[in-house]
Amino acid sequence: MICKYRPGTTSKHNSGTSRTSRIRTHKINADKTKPFQCQKCGRGFTLKRNKDRHVNYECGHEPRFQCPYCGLRSKQTSPVYAHIRKKHPEEEVFIFDMKL
Ligand SMILES: [Zn+2]
Ligand SMILES: [Zn+2]
Repeated sequence: MICKYRPGTTSKHNSGTSRTSRIRTHKINADKTKPFQCQKCGRGFTLKRNKDRHVNYECGHEPRFQCPYCGLRSKQTSPVYAHIRKKHPEEEVFIFDMKL
């Protein structure tokens, strides 16, 4: 009696991968932990991309996004959207984009 046995794919069994996901604890220390600084205003950033975003979109720029209901302005859209949902829950959520 011949049993044809095909070794199945081993995808279902991860052999011995019981690695626990690393838990990172972020401790916010003093400004030593912010190696990236804006040349214009001296603000410190932990990540280079945050600094770049600040330099490109925030520093020296006027807030360009505005709440149409109360005039609150922000340099980014998401705070304005959050603001409208919170402060003007009855209103339609949209923003003015004052292109500079
Ligand atoms: Zn700056
Ligand atoms: Zn508003």
